Formats: sequence, C-alpha cells, structure tokens
Amino acid sequence: MIYQRVALIGLGLIASSMAHAMRANGLAGEIVGYAKSPETRAVAKELFCDRVTESAAEAVRGADLVVLAVPVGVMGEIAAEIGQHLAPGATVTDVGSVKQAVVDAVTPHLPAGVHFIPGHPMAGTEYSGPRSGFATLFQNRWWLLTPPEGCDPEALARLRQLIEGMGAKVDLLDVGHHDLVVAVVSHVPHAIAYTMVGVADHMRRVSQSEVIKYSAAGFRDFTRIAASDPVMWRDVFLTNKDAVLDILGRFAEELFVLQRAIRMGDGEHLHAYFTRTRAIRRGIIEAGQGLACAWRPRPGRRTSTARPVRW
Ligand code: NAP
Repeated sequence: MIYQRVALIGLGLIASSMAHAMRANGLAGEIVGYAKSPETRAVAKELFCDRVTESAAEAVRGADLVVLAVPVGVMGEIAAEIGQHLAPGATVTDVGSVKQAVVDAVTPHLPAGVHFIPGHPMAGTEYSGPRSGFATLFQNRWWLLTPPEGCDPEALARLRQLIEGMGAKVDLLDVGHHDLVVAVVSHVPHAIAYTMVGVADHMRRVSQSEVIKYSAAGFRDFTRIAASDPVMWRDVFLTNKDAVLDILGRFAEELFVLQRAIRMGDGEHLHAYFTRTRAIRRGIIEAGQGLACAWRPRPGRRTSTARPVRW
C-alpha cells in the first residue's frame, strides 16, 4: 500500500479508473470520494469508493493523497474549499488536461507543508461519469507530472510509485512546455474534429443521411472525438488559449500550403508530404502508443459503439 487514505474529488472517468486501478493493485488503504451530485456519489459508493462524503472538505480530512479530478475550470473553487482541511504533509495532485491554469488557480489556496504536484494522465475515452472507468485505462500510457521548483523529492517519489503501480509511465515536464505539447497532440486535434463534424452537420442539411450512411473510418474517428465531454473541452480551450491559438495558426498555414498543392495539381508535393506524415504514425506505433488503451466497454454517461483513442 502506498497511501493510507486517498481522497478523490470528482468521480468521473479519470477518478473512477484510478480507484479501480488502485484497488486492483492494492495501492490505497481507503478510497474516499466526493462529487457534486448525489447520484454520482451513490454510483461511486456502489462501484469503487469505500466511503463518499457530502462535501469536498470532509473528503480530504486525514487523507495523505488528494486527487482533484474535476473539470479544469472548477479546480480553484475546490482548492479554496479544501485548503484549510488538508492534513499536514499531505500530497495534492490533479489530473487536469491543462497545467498552468490549474497551478495558478490551486496554489494560492494550499497551506505550507502540503505538497502540490500537478499531473496529467495521457489516457482517456470519450465516455464520462462514474460508470465509465476501468482499471486498465492507464496501462502503458504516459502520466505527465509538472512538479514545482523545490518540490519535496519524497512526496514526488511516492506519487510516482502510485502512478507506476496503476500501470502508467511517468515523465516530468515544465508547466508551459506541457501546455504547448498537449495543444499539439490533443487540444488542436480535438478542435479540428469538432470543426469537421460541424462541417458535416451543415452538409447533412444538403445531402441528408449520406453523411451518416457512408460515414467512413476517417469521419467516424472525428465523430468519436467530437463526442467528448463538452464541459471538459470548453474548459480546456478557455484555459489553454495561447498555446491552442499558436498551434491553430500553424495548422492554418499548413492547410493553405496543402490547399495550394491540390489546386495546382502538385502531386510531388502531396506525395512527399503524406510520406512524411506516414513516418510519424509509424514512429507512434513503434513507441507503443498506437492504441489508446485496453478497451473494456462500460455503461458510461453516453452510449456509443466507437472505441476510445484519445486523452
Ligand atoms: P468526468 O467523467 O466528466 O467527471 C467529472 C467529475 O467532476 C464528475 O464526477 C463531476 O460530478 C465532478 N464535478 C464537476 N464539477 C464539480 C464541482 N463543482 N464540485 C465537485 N465535483 C464536480 O470528467 P473526467 O473525464 O474524469 O475529467 C476529469 C479531469 O481529468 C478534467 O480536468 C480533465 O481535463 C482531465 N482529463 C480528462 C481526460 C479524458 O479523456 N476524459 C484525460 C486526461 C485528463 P457530477 O458527476 O456530480 O457532475
């Protein structure tokens, strides 16, 4: 056992997957949970929490690890509520998809003697809610940590042990660099998927059911990504604005070059470009990151027959 008592604040996909993984691997003595709605708390109690509480403040009392697993936009509000109730020496981490905004919102509320180690598991599905989690979600996935300067090495080593115990691989990153990297590998691809599905939605008004009927793999993948939780993604774009706008600008430039090559019939350019991008995909497969996770369907909040491949 690595932590005696883990408090999970927010009991959706990521928190429930953590609870299942901690239980499966005997990593936590007690798992205490809190989420906004009584319905979510009841499901969590039934499926993966030893105990649920009526408030976040109550959940963190006596916990040696507190995990903030709520949408990025509410991290600060939760930190303000729990700050005075944290046990001395406790570690607080989060799983938010953006790091600078979380660091800015959470840090001012934490008392001295509490170790704050922000984190981001690079694993996920388009499902959400307390029924969507599964123990193998983090298997062989990266879990990025952005420890602040002067972070306690023992607290960091212990958190790392927990994450590795859940099957993930840990890397340490600077906060700003994290936000730029995830803008490239996750946030902008989501923005593109949302846009493409929006385009098809307009088209549907013209061609009715063809878009759905003949939906091929490329478009189906876009619709799966675009089925992701709207609250989570609203918060991601609002809080990682600079990095996302920077990468979207670069994307637009590339798109213009591609558009021009198509217009000019420049087959040589297209072939060379697609050869380069194919090599990137091969590199991802060789790095063992070609498939998202060992998928096990669970009745999440949304229903879909698609398989998960994103974070
Ligand atoms: P989720 O399944 O939608 O769950 C969110 C949880 O937060 C729910 O239990 C919700 O409670 C709770 N919550 C929301 N507002 C709250 C509040 N004010 N007070 C208390 N609880 C509140 O979300 P998730 O996918 O697990 O994402 C959680 C975090 O992980 C986000 O910051 C996200 O950026 C990050 N993340 C997500 C993924 C992914 O692919 N999903 C991957 C990596 C990181 P109710 O059910 O009662 O509303």
